[in-house]
Amino acid sequence: MRAPWWMDGVHFSCQANCGKCCDQPGGIVYLSPDDAQRLADHAQLPVEDWLERDTRQTYDGRFVLKSREEDGICIHLNDQKQCNIYEVRPQQCKAFPWWGENLATASEWKKVKSSCPGIDAEDAILVDGQTIRLNIFSDRTSTKGFRTWPPSKSRWKR
Ligand code: SF4
Repeated sequence: MRAPWWMDGVHFSCQANCGKCCDQPGGIVYLSPDDAQRLADHAQLPVEDWLERDTRQTYDGRFVLKSREEDGICIHLNDQKQCNIYEVRPQQCKAFPWWGENLATASEWKKVKSSCPGIDAEDAILVDGQTIRLNIFSDRTSTKGFRTWPPSKSRWKR
């Protein structure tokens, strides 16, 4: 089997005060159970209360972060285009731009590159294929999500 096109690494560095990947009306951030626990701890709330305050459920019941009503952008993106919860942000946010859908083909990647200045930026570092693979897995886990709290044990191992 041929190795994926990105296996030799891709140049990328997240750019300060950019926020373009978050500044997406209608963008969806799926949450893993670990995300829910970590973000609830950060907010100093029981998970159930945090879920009630900061998330909604998709049509099939998965928990996702809430968006602002006025523009459909993530509730955690501030006016300076920074994430208010950057240190504890969801793993799907952390995994960007290494999402399976973005990396599926070189031409999909080109599209992502046109809106993400961190790809091949002047200060970009070479991110190795194994790191990219781990991020793809992390994004996939988040996208599976969870529908109840506590989540079913067979699907959540901490
Ligand atoms: S949680 Fe933070 S990193 Fe994730 S979409 Fe919202 S503002 Fe962006």
